Amino acid sequence: MRAMVGAFRKRSFANRSLSTRTLILAEHEGGSVKASSLSAVEAAKFLGEDNSVSLLLAGSGPSLEEAASHAASCHPSISQVLLADSDKFTYPLAEPWAKLVHVVQQKGRYSHIIAGSGSFGKNILPRAAALLDVSPITDVTEISGSHLFVRPIYAGNALCTVRYTGSDPCLLTIRSTSFPWVSITSRSDSNAALIEKVDLSTFSEDDAIGKSKYISLSSQDTERPDLGNARVVITGGRALKSAENFTMIEKLAEKLGAAVGATRAAVDAGYVPNELQVGQTGKIVAPELYMAFGVSGAIQHLAGMRDSKVIVAVNKDADAPIFQVADYGIVGDLFKVIPELLEKLPDK
Ligand code: FAD
Repeated sequence: MRAMVGAFRKRSFANRSLSTRTLILAEHEGGSVKASSLSAVEAAKFLGEDNSVSLLLAGSGPSLEEAASHAASCHPSISQVLLADSDKFTYPLAEPWAKLVHVVQQKGRYSHIIAGSGSFGKNILPRAAALLDVSPITDVTEISGSHLFVRPIYAGNALCTVRYTGSDPCLLTIRSTSFPWVSITSRSDSNAALIEKVDLSTFSEDDAIGKSKYISLSSQDTERPDLGNARVVITGGRALKSAENFTMIEKLAEKLGAAVGATRAAVDAGYVPNELQVGQTGKIVAPELYMAFGVSGAIQHLAGMRDSKVIVAVNKDADAPIFQVADYGIVGDLFKVIPELLEKLPDK
């Protein structure tokens, strides 16, 4: 089902130039730009042929400089890297970041500002939109023109085509799974994008103070691939019954070089931390292979994984809704199926 939202207003399009200028709000970690931000660069390609792309990086310390060099050489579409180097941006808090976006927009007059749909983009973009007095369009999965976007609604059960009729800049968050970025070659030094420091002289101390404050970061130190970008995801549901039993899912993931996912029921029961939750209120994934063990297939879970290329489900109930989206299904007891798989699969 596709619905058209937003009345078409001729007047608002009359003065729009055909060329677009896009600002990407980028996340970086360990001296590299995150893949979700490079997916935003991929998405920008669909805004039009004559589109210049600037990437905004903020933070402090040597890892920011490293991330800037990475940004300048990793993607052919990036023409400029803007660097906001200040301890105000050490942590990605919404208040200073939103003000930064406002400052950068005053100078750059971008037609579009894009961030990934993860917690970084979802945190910053609404506040930046309020400062710029525009309405953001979130969770975009398809760009059909510079002002025409597709996004899922009703937990992914319908797709909505939205025409943006507001004034510039048009703010978007995009689902990185819909705009995959594949690194082929990096640019040579002579061909690298320009790196420019953002003038923060108009940025006052008060601009950095907001209602949120950084307390701590808790993340799992794991060798496994990142859930959002993994090629294979192995997910366990409530049927695993305990955190101890859930280690079967982890062992299987290890053998297949996969990321581990979980349903909200498994997270709520305390089997795994909530960063592993897949679904409407968790992570959105679209791996090449998604294996679901003891997962009923509630619509809120399907909203986060139904775009996976191949779905395999193991459930003892033949009528479980997960089988409606599965390409391969086993009606059986996961406590028998997983040990058999572990035995037959070679070590990685
Ligand atoms: P259950 O629904 O209890 O299903 C367990 C399944 O395991 C059953 O199908 C059963 O047949 C099968 N089973 C039992 N024993 C075995 C066995 N030994 N071997 C094989 N199969 C077995 N859920 C999410 O996952 N992600 C979300 O982001 C999310 N967001 C939500 C947001 C809202 C606003 C709401 C209201 C709900 C949300 N939920 C979300 C919860 C969702 O509705 C379901 O409750 C949840 O997905 C169910 O998890 P489950 O499949 O693990 O558990």
